[in-house]
Amino acid sequence: MEYQARINSIKNSYNRPVREVQIPQKNGGPMYTSEFFGSDVFSFKTLEKRLPKPIYQCFIKQMRGRKVMDKNTSDSVAHAVRIWAMDRGATHFTHWFQPQTGSTAEKHDSFLTLKSNFSSQGHEITPIDAFSGSQLLQAEPDASSFPSGGMRTTFEARGYTVWDTTSPMFVRAGPHGTSVLYIPSIFISYNGDALDEKTVLLRSSEAISKAAIELLELINSPTDEKSAVSHIYTTLGIEQEFFLIDRELYGLRRDLKITGRTLFGCLPPKHQQLEDHYFGKMPTHVLSAISEVELELIKLGVPVKTRHNEVAPAQFEMAPIFENSSIAVDHNLLTMEVLHKVAHRHKLKVLFHEKPFKGINGSGKHCNWSLSTDYGENLLDPTNSPEKNDRFLFFLVAILNAVHVHAGLLRLGVASASNDHRLGANEAPPAIISIFLGKHLTEVLDSIEEDRTIQYFLPHVERIKVGGTAIDVKISSLPEILRDLTDRNRTSPFAFTGNKFEFRAVGSKQSSSFPITLLNAAVASSIQEIVEALKKQKGNNDLLTDEDKLTVLRHYIKKTKPIRFDGDNYSNEWVKEAKVRGLLNLKNSPAAFSQLLEPIHANMLMKNGIFSESEIRSRHNILLEKYVKDLLIEAETFENIVNTQILPVAFEFRKSLAEVINLLGSMSAPESRALEKTTPIVEKLQKLMDTLKENIEKFLKIENLTEQVASTKIYLTSIIETARTEVDKLEEIVPDKLWPMPKYSELLFT
Ligand code: ADP
Ligand code: MG
Repeated sequence: MEYQARINSIKNSYNRPVREVQIPQKNGGPMYTSEFFGSDVFSFKTLEKRLPKPIYQCFIKQMRGRKVMDKNTSDSVAHAVRIWAMDRGATHFTHWFQPQTGSTAEKHDSFLTLKSNFSSQGHEITPIDAFSGSQLLQAEPDASSFPSGGMRTTFEARGYTVWDTTSPMFVRAGPHGTSVLYIPSIFISYNGDALDEKTVLLRSSEAISKAAIELLELINSPTDEKSAVSHIYTTLGIEQEFFLIDRELYGLRRDLKITGRTLFGCLPPKHQQLEDHYFGKMPTHVLSAISEVELELIKLGVPVKTRHNEVAPAQFEMAPIFENSSIAVDHNLLTMEVLHKVAHRHKLKVLFHEKPFKGINGSGKHCNWSLSTDYGENLLDPTNSPEKNDRFLFFLVAILNAVHVHAGLLRLGVASASNDHRLGANEAPPAIISIFLGKHLTEVLDSIEEDRTIQYFLPHVERIKVGGTAIDVKISSLPEILRDLTDRNRTSPFAFTGNKFEFRAVGSKQSSSFPITLLNAAVASSIQEIVEALKKQKGNNDLLTDEDKLTVLRHYIKKTKPIRFDGDNYSNEWVKEAKVRGLLNLKNSPAAFSQLLEPIHANMLMKNGIFSESEIRSRHNILLEKYVKDLLIEAETFENIVNTQILPVAFEFRKSLAEVINLLGSMSAPESRALEKTTPIVEKLQKLMDTLKENIEKFLKIENLTEQVASTKIYLTSIIETARTEVDKLEEIVPDKLWPMPKYSELLFT
């Protein structure tokens, strides 16, 4: 039966017509992308058009000044946005927020209100549509079912969602031509503790802005107009990797459905070794689905830009143009949601798990990160001569220092049961956090450290051009091209890529919010440290001299040297070398979790006002709980599938062999051999399942969460790994017709 279902799904998939979606039209022709970009977003511009001028100015002032919005202003904004949204079919509104589950949450309320009129004739009820300022500003969902890490007990269930005015509202299509108004929000408890991912990200953005402005003011001469910068943003461009597979086949894999990854499966003879999928032509169904995703995202104001095949078969990537971090995080979460939804319409299933297939490349969420002034100037732009660019050098050194001091914290920020399959496996960034700078910047830092002139190591290129150095391609008809100041290093977890850093260790499934919050916090703290060092160096003088600046730079260049590594991060030599350098190698999540409580990190987070002590404890608890739950679910799913799907199939196979042996008697040598082969595998598997069952029971009896985390390997994961190899052996012996689930070759190549 399963076999027939598999064959039918494969046939269906090949015969399925491609779903066509029309690009928005104007005057009978296609609209340009820029013309419908953000058409579902209630932008500040739209708001300005719809509000009386003084009220709009009041709104902007109150928003910037972080003041409580007065009733008149908030009511006016609420009215304007309701009319705008209802004209687009909105019947409901929702405060859209990011609990610590990795995804988003929403509760819909309709605009419908009943107005009662009491008169001498009796009681009359009139239906009206209404939306007040206070409804816009905050809502009070029951918070008791969201993770809080024990910060509050269930009877103190109050939580508040509060409109994050920095992120614009938008409408999203619902069923039957209706739509819903989305109000991006933060989520806090009755006591004001952060229960979500966004509050802490916004706090960390403020911390970095404050510190960075202080540094800029200190190193710029007073006549420098750049000292007028009033806000620094962290910018973020998130490359999202994912798999897209046939939905019907997916439906036949219980492991994928429950755990997000395949718990069994043999590698097909051809998978990714030819590297022929990377940047190849996208399959038509996939391109059709991704194009529809893009159409929706463009309307939602998500600036999607890049799409391409990734290294593994059926693996793809989408990336937007970078934005202010908190908006970029919102937009990444929206991208994931829209991908999920639209894939469904195309009979595809998107997999965001970091490692859905053993032996095949996993997926990450590469976070391209930089700092920008409110004038849009990139503070990590090395310009033509980074060696003379104080501003660039100080920010660079601050980041080196942040990563050096808080590498353990950054490692913690990407720790999860699912990302463990990727980090440290021989493909993705390793668990050792280090920084790649490239030859040119390394030489810049070395020359400062050694107090000598800089050497240009590319002898053929004397001329440095904007954006890099010139390369002569030696074909006269082609123009000279520009070489970036840094080459690429795909193995580094934290790489400088021209004018930004790329934090590659982040998992594809997780929200970028937490890792970026930790990065922002570490950099903010490091900038402050450098500011203090500069002030000390300056002493009572009015201005910093060049020598003062060099002294401080040199100190930090030397101090942070161990964190710089340009070689192959996957090699064994690096593991040894990193140990000599004293770098942490936190191979898995249980080893990484406690970093959050380490005083060096925890104190930094508290001092900068990013987390309170109880918030740190609660985060830590939530991470541990999630880890344990994920692995328990995997173990129970594994046991269930082996006992109810795999072993029965093995028995059936053995029965059919036994019947033939009975029938053929002495002529049944080949069948006997096949039977002999399965016997030890089945016996071993049966025993392993008995042990797994016992282990799960024992595991559940462990009361202390930290102890549970530490015991996952001996009780759960190592046994699953061993048992999996036995199942995979069976997959290669049992006839295709009997095998109870779609195989890797079918999942990856259909
Ligand atoms: P790659 O070649 O590394 O795969 P992509 O083009 O896929 O690069 O993605 C690079 C990402 O980096 C894009 O999202 C881009 O907008 C982003 N990016 C570029 N400049 C900056 C910057 N200054 N700050 C943050 N992100 C940036
Ligand atoms: Mg890319």
